Amino acid sequence: MHIFPVDFISAGDIEKYSYCPLSWWLSREEHHEDSEGVKKHREIGMQAKKGMKAYQRARNSERTVLYLAIGATIVSLVGISMIYSSYTLGIIFDVISVFWLIAALYFLWKSERYVTMWHDNFKKIMVVLPLAATVFSILSVTFVMEPNKIICYIMEISSLLWLIFATFFFYLALRSEMSYEKIKKELRLPDGEIIYVDDLERSPILKSEKYGIWGRPDLLIKVGEDFIPVEVKTGRVPKGPYFSHIMQLTAYMVLVEENYRAPPYGLLKYGPQVYRIEYEEDLKNLLLEKVSEMRKALKTGEVHRNHNRPGKCKHCSRREICPERLA
Ligand code: SF4
Repeated sequence: MHIFPVDFISAGDIEKYSYCPLSWWLSREEHHEDSEGVKKHREIGMQAKKGMKAYQRARNSERTVLYLAIGATIVSLVGISMIYSSYTLGIIFDVISVFWLIAALYFLWKSERYVTMWHDNFKKIMVVLPLAATVFSILSVTFVMEPNKIICYIMEISSLLWLIFATFFFYLALRSEMSYEKIKKELRLPDGEIIYVDDLERSPILKSEKYGIWGRPDLLIKVGEDFIPVEVKTGRVPKGPYFSHIMQLTAYMVLVEENYRAPPYGLLKYGPQVYRIEYEEDLKNLLLEKVSEMRKALKTGEVHRNHNRPGKCKHCSRREICPERLA
């Protein structure tokens, strides 16, 4: 259980307050049940977690393929060095192998940093590198021949085995990648790596010591160098994003800013509809205003309806117990 100083305010409470201050006030007495919304959130969380694992599996397999490509190149290089008897072709393959090795190492380094940007190219590279390394190895053995036939055969067999392993891991990478893409498509998420999923119990809480707020975004997606919070809303799909949801998402953006770096935007997802909300100074100031109003309300205990819209009360889940309801 997480303990916060009393004046820490949650992103969920900011959402309720922004809908109607009285709704937030009344919700403080509520016991949270396993509502449909919570169940739906849990399902989405589980699906996103599956996607997160598939992505990690794909990345691990891709890395293994690259290691194998480097290994195949080394085998090829060693094979050439050990058996060539000063033929020009031997030297040529030697040079090509060295370049191949540098290229494989370069792409391995790149894959660690810019995987989402380079992804499709990587797939091609990962097929080409071990294949080509093996071909060079076989060619080197075939052309240089004579002096040490046993080494020739060993190198040839090693390279082929390397290729078989590389192909197998490539298949695993592709399979996990496809599973990740499928989940991402079902959830309609942007490109990038899911690095955080709120499972309502065990996910770490993000805190802002600076502004005294805390929360758990539904998802965090790493897009390039940025961390994009995603808030998933269940129920009916509105024509545009609700103000209260924008405030909640802004709170997550503030939390991401303090824990990672300022995100350029956040995403509000209503079923198939996804809205992009830019993280701007005005929006952040508006959020901080709401937070300070909430703090004031907590001190004074004075909280009232701040609107004249019966429609709002009609859809409010606290209207049965609300003394100021309009419908
Ligand atoms: S019923 Fe209306 S006034 Fe009461 S909490 Fe809900 S939205 Fe606010």
